[in-house]
Amino acid sequence: MKQRRLNSLEEKASYIRKEVVSISVTNRAGHIAPSLSCVDILVALYHGAMKYKPDNPNWDGRDRLVFSKAHGCYALYAILADRKILPKKEWHSFYTEESTLLGCMERRLEYGLEAGCGSLGHGLPIAVGIAYGAKLQGKKYNTFCVVGDGELQEGTTWEALQFAVKHEISNLIIIIDSNRLQAMDFIVNVLDREIKDKVKKLKGFGLTPKVVHGHKPGQILKFINKAKLSSGKVPKVIIAETIKGFGLKCMENVPRFHFRIPTEQEIAMGESYASLKSNIKNKKSK
Ligand SMILES: [Mg+2]
Repeated sequence: MKQRRLNSLEEKASYIRKEVVSISVTNRAGHIAPSLSCVDILVALYHGAMKYKPDNPNWDGRDRLVFSKAHGCYALYAILADRKILPKKEWHSFYTEESTLLGCMERRLEYGLEAGCGSLGHGLPIAVGIAYGAKLQGKKYNTFCVVGDGELQEGTTWEALQFAVKHEISNLIIIIDSNRLQAMDFIVNVLDREIKDKVKKLKGFGLTPKVVHGHKPGQILKFINKAKLSSGKVPKVIIAETIKGFGLKCMENVPRFHFRIPTEQEIAMGESYASLKSNIKNKKSK
């Protein structure tokens, strides 16, 4: 992939992060950190991986995205607004009385939102159902599902995977936002263990997960495109290693920021995406 394209994906991710932080802080919406960890995944999906028509969100041939970690939907709203699928006015008034968008998203096809997923562990079963329906009907689109790593504790996730493997649902691509945190604590302190154990568990279910850097949208896109072309009979799984709160230095890997709005002093600690942007400029000027 050309360097210019990679840079533009990273710049897009920086822009989306700025949008998420600015709208959330202004409108006092709290789920900023879980939104920031999945920005690069969404940039890869909406800038190359998925088929869709911004002027016709209901187009039957579109790829479906079930965004299971719905509390991180601020990032999805920001990118849908940037892609002109969701009206900017709705996104910019999010969390105020003027907006009809919910804090955990609901199904609204006119805005490109395929499924309501407020209760964690429900998105993957929905995605499996959509993908299975497409397979039975001979439809050509893919179904994508973004799940949180904390969600993997839900039994419904594993039931859905068993079904998907048994019925050879290969038109499903699952991307795990593996930020190692769930709500207000690190996952290792609650139930699950390290990524290698997740990989082992998924392999035990007949899957072949691939681990990717979760803040390099170009790399994520490459992995997704490879997964799309692969001839395997089962769903493809990508584990994106991310940092919860990535972009705001005060927030990165800090459990108490799961649902907390940073103060002015905390914001003044700086932004990771600003330094990322300056790195890109340095590379260009060489
Ligand atoms: Mg998590």
